[in-house]
Amino acid sequence: MPKKEFKCIVCEKPEDHCTCIKYCGLCQSDFSVRLTEDGQYYCVDCREACGYKTQEQA
Ligand SMILES: [Zn+2]
Ligand SMILES: [Zn+2]
Repeated sequence: MPKKEFKCIVCEKPEDHCTCIKYCGLCQSDFSVRLTEDGQYYCVDCREACGYKTQEQA
């Protein structure tokens, strides 16, 4: 099973190529934000709280 590549919901590019301004979709923090499965960025606290996974964790 090939892994599904996460893509930014705004520019439809993977995280490496996304040049959007990245901030958490829940709390608007810009600390340690990462792309998650739903194509939005979330900070480390919100990812842990909501169980969102980054590409590497999926
Ligand atoms: Zn983007
Ligand atoms: Zn957050």
